Amino acid sequence: MILITHRRNDCIGCNSCVEHAPLRWRMDELDGKSQLIGSTKKGEHFVLKVSDDELEANKLAEQDCPVNIIHVEKKDFLKQERERIDCINKEILLLLKKRMLVVEKIFEYKEKEYLTIEDLEREKEIIDLVKKESQKESIDTQFAQEIFKTIINSSKSWQKRVIVNKK
Ligand code: SF4
Repeated sequence: MILITHRRNDCIGCNSCVEHAPLRWRMDELDGKSQLIGSTKKGEHFVLKVSDDELEANKLAEQDCPVNIIHVEKKDFLKQERERIDCINKEILLLLKKRMLVVEKIFEYKEKEYLTIEDLEREKEIIDLVKKESQKESIDTQFAQEIFKTIINSSKSWQKRVIVNKK
């Protein structure tokens, strides 16, 4: 898959892209600028995804555009999906940080009130809720429960470490 972008406003109408890839580019007689056939407007660019067999001709159009307003990028599926995973991981980390801040507050409260770190009843409540919500969202329940058990255990370990370090 190839992604072509065209910053059409800056086109000087030299016709070079049309000569290199006439099936994909044409001149607009109304304003004298080129058009990327089939594209849609996104912000100041026109964008279009095309198959790999159009790469060569459009690469030439990109190279020879005198004002550098054509960009042709071969999208690597794996790279693209891994970039999405990286973004999701960042979101998960931010949520974990948010959760940890609440855990810290509860921990301080428990310390002040001489309550134990471990509360098995509460843990069961969380896991049951995770099961219910994951079923609702069609997420593998075992997968979701394992993740939350790990989060709970890590949270307890952290609290225990804090106590040990205070001694
Ligand atoms: S090569 Fe560039 S400047 Fe020339 S018509 Fe195409 S987009 Fe416009």
